[in-house]
Amino acid sequence: HIPLALILSLLAAYVVYLIAANRISLSYYIGHAMTRREFRVYCQPIINSDNGRCLGIETLLRWKNKRQGWISPDVFIPLAEQHRLIIPLTRYLITTVAENLNLFPSRPSFYISINVAAEHFNTVSIIDDIRNIWLPANPIASLMLELTERTALSEIQHEQIKTLKEMGILLAIDDFGTGHSSLSYLKNLSPDVLKIDRGFTASIGTDAVNATVTDTIITLAQRLKIKMVAEGVETEEQMDYLRLRGVNALQGYYFAKPMPINVFPLWLQQYEAR
Ligand code: C2E
Ligand code: CA
Ligand code: CA
Ligand code: CA
Repeated sequence: HIPLALILSLLAAYVVYLIAANRISLSYYIGHAMTRREFRVYCQPIINSDNGRCLGIETLLRWKNKRQGWISPDVFIPLAEQHRLIIPLTRYLITTVAENLNLFPSRPSFYISINVAAEHFNTVSIIDDIRNIWLPANPIASLMLELTERTALSEIQHEQIKTLKEMGILLAIDDFGTGHSSLSYLKNLSPDVLKIDRGFTASIGTDAVNATVTDTIITLAQRLKIKMVAEGVETEEQMDYLRLRGVNALQGYYFAKPMPINVFPLWLQQYEAR
């Protein structure tokens, strides 16, 4: 049999590897970071392509850790999902936005969009959070949930989404065209908004095949009467192309990079005075 010393040294090596790979420390710190309020809520404007008005914002989390510095959401969101911290993290986000509604225009057509993991729809947690945190804040602006298509949704998940829609919550399909179940999502969820992944936007003027896919997605959404938001608009050429094809709304560095929510009112003021 295997000597204990060997097992112990292998175990130690594994722990060292995990720490080196940032896996243990990061997931461990996510919990602490929430209590230390190391997460910041940023937002990025979404622009009406017809008249240039700001239609709403997408909230995006940022994490500034004392030791590691800025950590990308592409790193900590998957970790938070794996370690069941995504639900409390999203609750923190909803709470922060609900406490800061005064920063945003209060008209029903203005929407505040939040990214949600499909995992949220396994339990009633998101519905509870909206009922207990969002609605009591008496928002006039609308709430939109952005769901990324990764896996097929279960019966329960469908039920939750139906309930949310009945509550007046808007639904967007995020990163459309990159997942595996695009068409069944459109058929079964009848979303309010379809977000065209920034990979497609980037292909405009550079990649003929992907540009054809982009055109096809646009036509599909128009036939189904679903509004579109194109992500990752960085150039005037992309803006013109998308606008010409009737994409309703645009989001990207061309208009504004994500900013802390408390900076948004000043940005909006300057943008509207342009
Ligand atoms: P996403 O939902 O697709 O968000 C859009 C990402 O594109 C954001 O990256 C944004 O900063 C970036 N972006 C916006 N405009 C441009 C542009 O013109 N050019 C380029 N190159 N990039 C642009 P970010 O903030 O790093 O977030 C990455 C991903 O992390 C998000 O992708 C989303 O899936 C996830 N995420 C961020 N915040 C949250 C959150 O609160 N909850 C959940 N569940 N996921 C989140
Ligand atoms: Ca999103
Ligand atoms: Ca996206
Ligand atoms: Ca994405």
